[in-house]
Amino acid sequence: MGGYVYFFAQNRAEGSAEKKNLLGGKGANLAEMANLGVRIPPGFTISTEACLYYTAKHKYPDNLEEQIKENLKKVEQATGRKFGSRQRPLLVSVRSGARISMPGMMDTVLNLGLNDASAEGLIQEANNLRFTYDAYRRLIQMFGNVVLGIPAEKFEKLIEKKKEVRCVQDDIELTGEDLKELTDEFKELTEKEKGIEFPQDSFEQLRMAIDAVFASWNNKRAISYRKINKIPEHWGTAVNVQTMVFGNMGDDSGTGVGFTRDPATGEKELYGEYLINAQGEDVVAGIRTPLPLSTLKKKMPAINAELVDITEKLERHYRDVQDFEFTIEKGTLFMLQTRSGKRTAQAAIKIACDMVKEGLIDKKEALMRIEPGQLDQLLHRRIDPQAKLEVLASGLPASPGAATGGVVFTADRAVELVEKGEKVILVRKETSPEDIHGMAVAEGILTARGGRTSHAAVVARGMGKCCVAGCEAIKVNEKEKEFRVNGFTFKEGDFISLDGNTGRVIKGKVSTLEPELSAEFTELMKWANEIKTLGVRANADTPGDARLARELGAEGVGLCRTEHMFFGEKRLPYVQQMILAENKEDRKKALEKLEPMQKDDFKGILKEMEGLPVIIRLLDPPLHEFLPNYEDLLVEVSKLRMEKTDEKRVREKESLLEKIVALREVNPMLGHRGCRLGITFPEVYDMQARAVFEAVAELIAEKISVKPEIMIPLVVNEKELAILRKEVIRIAEEVMEEKKVKFEYKVGTMIELPRAALCAGKIAQQADFFSYGTNDLTQTTFGFSRDDAEGKFIPIYLEDKILTDNPFEILDQEGVGELIEIGTQRGRKANKDLEVGICGEHGGEPSSVKFCHRIGLDYVSCSPYRIPIARLAAAQAKLEEDMLKEEVRAK
Ligand code: ADP
Ligand code: MG
Ligand code: MG
Repeated sequence: MGGYVYFFAQNRAEGSAEKKNLLGGKGANLAEMANLGVRIPPGFTISTEACLYYTAKHKYPDNLEEQIKENLKKVEQATGRKFGSRQRPLLVSVRSGARISMPGMMDTVLNLGLNDASAEGLIQEANNLRFTYDAYRRLIQMFGNVVLGIPAEKFEKLIEKKKEVRCVQDDIELTGEDLKELTDEFKELTEKEKGIEFPQDSFEQLRMAIDAVFASWNNKRAISYRKINKIPEHWGTAVNVQTMVFGNMGDDSGTGVGFTRDPATGEKELYGEYLINAQGEDVVAGIRTPLPLSTLKKKMPAINAELVDITEKLERHYRDVQDFEFTIEKGTLFMLQTRSGKRTAQAAIKIACDMVKEGLIDKKEALMRIEPGQLDQLLHRRIDPQAKLEVLASGLPASPGAATGGVVFTADRAVELVEKGEKVILVRKETSPEDIHGMAVAEGILTARGGRTSHAAVVARGMGKCCVAGCEAIKVNEKEKEFRVNGFTFKEGDFISLDGNTGRVIKGKVSTLEPELSAEFTELMKWANEIKTLGVRANADTPGDARLARELGAEGVGLCRTEHMFFGEKRLPYVQQMILAENKEDRKKALEKLEPMQKDDFKGILKEMEGLPVIIRLLDPPLHEFLPNYEDLLVEVSKLRMEKTDEKRVREKESLLEKIVALREVNPMLGHRGCRLGITFPEVYDMQARAVFEAVAELIAEKISVKPEIMIPLVVNEKELAILRKEVIRIAEEVMEEKKVKFEYKVGTMIELPRAALCAGKIAQQADFFSYGTNDLTQTTFGFSRDDAEGKFIPIYLEDKILTDNPFEILDQEGVGELIEIGTQRGRKANKDLEVGICGEHGGEPSSVKFCHRIGLDYVSCSPYRIPIARLAAAQAKLEEDMLKEEVRAK
């Protein structure tokens, strides 16, 4: 024990790729390459354990300094150079490297080991004054900035000044003498800024650089990056100290970066760029325009052949696309880094499928390679990456996709304009169920308030429509029909574009690209189906949704919400008539008008899902949602009263107002809704059940096979369900009798209250199925009202780590999940045939889908565009389970 430092050189490295936790990604892969016989500059890695020790105790562990010195000796032996010496000086880079690549960490310092003496030696050795002083001034610049924290601009300013004095445009045009002067000026700057001399002792330089890497683990950038990406603090970072190689030693030198396959398309060809006569960071810094790697073959055929050979070997060894860095020093190729390459969803799928065909990986591995959430990118329109954008503001990327259209501020106006053939973007402070018809016709939705699970976001995702929510920078004035942002004012009809993938709001029209599902995508989804055991259904409210869902692989409808069947100008008057009715008779009359319309809706959906189950949820929201807004009506009534013109109208409006007052609730979420409506206004559910069963009867007459399942929302105990179930059965039998047909159906319930989950044993005796409404179950378990919570305190809770995730996005497995598990166990114990699933936002979220698999649910249900994500996550869940079993067996 006590080994904190790991040496590496071609064919003899102490580390390996397995030791990522200890050596960081960069260090582990350098060791792995070395052991594969790839030529890399020799060096050593100081482990993450040393970093953690240093972070905790503010000093090096015992022996660390000795170990560094020992390893430095080994490097000197391997290279025949000496650190800090005038004769053949050894120069090194100091690079940070955490377990995974982290942009928040310390930047690399190059050319460490140069001082006045070794610079002299290097001038003679390289016979090149310019090269040497370029290296030296870079060291002081990087060291000054990265290690000592002197602002980079201060160095840049001195370079600019030098160029001005010399009347040149480019850094390249500065002579060796110029750079020598700059080196001195940089030293002076360091002294002025920090009150210390640039250290001439090379080991001192090294120690300070190592300390800086250690300290960078806890700098602000790194901490915030860790927070966003959920990287634990206890990982620490490793430090790589590596012999410098120089790509800037002439035209037989160069440097480049690349991928073994195209990271955008997945095409199998070396992809990347390089610069002749340049140092590493020049390629990324964009000082000169790099050449595509495809031209290396012509310029340096031998090097190109070697590079192809090495990168192919690396890809085969790692069995994954590699993202690599290399430097050519006087005709010799050195690899500096390799790691698995980041790629777009499209590329990820193509690469995974190609690698299966090439025999590099099997189908299971291919499935495991794809991040389910990434699939979202493929299923939606996106902004043309080539397009020039004028970004006005950024909101939350609430629903993916891209949209361009004229702005419009009310749902009704949206419908009018779309009927005239225009494309619109609905802009609201926030949306409510009354806006659904406008949202349905809009290209995209933009709101100033609300989170990723606000009404606008949830509905837009359900519709597969692009939505940017909570864009606080826009000031919406719905009365004046305008919004302001950034000094601009947008009136109705002015064009904007939305990027639902990033949350950007863009001025004017933007060209977009349509989603295309590749053959590889279809193939991969087929493999997912072969493996997965969890069912995947869709939340679909309309025949169009149902068709789309089926195309994307839905195995039924897990939730068909029926509230939209009460909206729209043809229906709402009857709904209001029904609500305002003084007696049962009048209420029935109004409902009789609605029934045929809803029957047609149900027919449409059931037909699209021929042969597959369709769960239809009876009316859920409180009735006041179907009535005009209280405040608006109050204003109207007072106006009418003052005008004293139409007495009858005033009376009508007044009685409407009274009804609204009577229906107003202190807390609608916990109020008179769900099955409570069904109990108190049985006619509504009767009408809906009749509409469903008549649709079923008619479809059976058309020889279409259908599997309706009626779902009663929001039950708290078995008595509610027993009453309503009996009603549904009565209606089914009536319809069978009337139409002279027989059909099968199920009656079940939505579990969305903790009490219902706990009392599932009793409830299951009245239910053929349970569907956990995880949105409401999360609200009721946490006691969080979603919109309030997301708008007010959840962001702070996440910031302060009181919550690790937003429970409305990622199922809270510990609390809500436990209730689901308990409910399922108790329910199945009472009714072994009970069919159990979840519906709600979580049904399309990968970690939640996996949880549902683990606790043995029958299916998840999600919005149509999330179905491929759920299918892939379900397959991965099964594979993970198998792997776990395998591990247990091996033990
Ligand atoms: P990053 O994590 O940003 O990729 P790196 O540690 O890879 O940082 O280094 C940044 C740049 O410095 C890269 O272009 C790399 O090629 C170059 N570089 C690092 N170490 C050396 C070295 N020993 N010799 C030559 N160039 C190097
Ligand atoms: Mg790198
Ligand atoms: Mg609900």
